[in-house]
Amino acid sequence: MFGKGHPRPNPFQPGTRIGDAWVVDQLVRLAEGRMFYLTSRVDSPETDRTCDACGHPHNPAKAKTCVQCGEPLKKERFLMSVRWAPEFNSLYQEYFRTRKQHPAILSPTDIIIHDSLLCSVVPIRGESLLLDECAPLPASDLMRFAQRLAGVTAFLNFNGVELARLSAANFLLDRDRNAILYDLDICALHPNLLAAEQQKAGVHQSIDLLRRFSPVDYQPLTELLNRAEDGYYTDTATLGADIQSILEAPIPGQVFQSAAAITDVGLVRDLNEDYWTWTNLHQGINLFVVADGMGGHESGEVASALAATTICRVARDRVRNCTDLSADSLENILDEAFQAANNTVKEQAESCGNDMGTTLVSMMTIGEDRALLANVGDSRAYLLRNGVLYRVTRDHSLVQRLVDQNRITEQEARTHPHSNILLRTVGTERNVQIDIYLVEIEPGDRVLLCSDGLWGEVEDEDIASILNHYSDLRTASRELVRAAHNSGGRDNITIIITEHGR
Ligand code: CA
Repeated sequence: MFGKGHPRPNPFQPGTRIGDAWVVDQLVRLAEGRMFYLTSRVDSPETDRTCDACGHPHNPAKAKTCVQCGEPLKKERFLMSVRWAPEFNSLYQEYFRTRKQHPAILSPTDIIIHDSLLCSVVPIRGESLLLDECAPLPASDLMRFAQRLAGVTAFLNFNGVELARLSAANFLLDRDRNAILYDLDICALHPNLLAAEQQKAGVHQSIDLLRRFSPVDYQPLTELLNRAEDGYYTDTATLGADIQSILEAPIPGQVFQSAAAITDVGLVRDLNEDYWTWTNLHQGINLFVVADGMGGHESGEVASALAATTICRVARDRVRNCTDLSADSLENILDEAFQAANNTVKEQAESCGNDMGTTLVSMMTIGEDRALLANVGDSRAYLLRNGVLYRVTRDHSLVQRLVDQNRITEQEARTHPHSNILLRTVGTERNVQIDIYLVEIEPGDRVLLCSDGLWGEVEDEDIASILNHYSDLRTASRELVRAAHNSGGRDNITIIITEHGR
């Protein structure tokens, strides 16, 4: 999807000169289709420096304090986004040459084409990447994000700017945690207001993004987003206002604190083929899914997203039309949803003529005290109870079989040359066998769903100590990603953590 057909170039080394004016300090983040760097200006006697305190833009390069207000001048820091799919480069340049400014859209200080890479430089003063945020965003952040999305989408509509996509990679959060749109993926510039169809596409992009950062189970918001997906909103201004009125009302604290999710491309792969999603099926019945796709460009990421969204859709339909919500009945529904996902991916693979497939691990909560955990492949579900981490699922992999036959140890399995061979996946055979576990949940339990990009890099005991150390699930998720990076980050990393009955 992102940057398809264009492999990621090698990252720039610190000290690399970009154009005449910029030098790379360090790589900050790899993302799909993008790399982010901290960058500074090449020191030059002609360069004016802007004062952080008063904003005076014309201080001599060697000045220690601002000539206007006398405050010490800090070293200016810049963020440079580097994209390597060249098809939209010229539109991006054209937009920022000719178009009007908006307070929530960051205009680049400079745009450089370096070896056909689009390098876009913006000043930063404590901003962070929305990409690094876990779902859900805290309620106040989510509300302001919805308002910002409404504002910038209206502005882009009015100015004829059509976006190829709108993702977390397009946003920074400022120090007050307001979202700022930058480094847009523009696919067309129209002379006037966008046509109704294009505006509708923009509304959908916004809804998808809001859903990614919304909590799993807050009925008023879920219902609104469902209505929005059904086409109820034709403009984002009304959508933004309705979301604001929901999020301004008192919200039970647990809503935003009982689950967290994040996915990360890792440090080596070009593409993120993992996918996560969550959805509410009925009061007390929530479904959480992690999928790890395989098959390379234009198949792995399709398989994982297709499987995960199919499970949610089928389970939602079945639960809606079912009067028996006992554990047995829900187990059947979960099995059916997995089979539907399997067949959907299989059909897609056949029609595309490729061998796409995916792992799946999911949890369906049944009220407060029970949950169904299910898996195919080697994405895992763990249970943390009283500080002890238990692995609930068994991998359907060659190395797991060798461990079961006592031919290798668990430790040898981690580094075995065939550790990536799966014996069961979703989408490869017409029918797939699913392992389902009914787990009694105790107050304070945490459940972790993750792809092998986490457990393959981080030992179970280190996962346990991170889960035990951080009471906030969002922080725990980010720390797990950080731990996977510190061990090499060779694969995509996807994590959902839930906490029960507190
Ligand atoms: Ca993987």
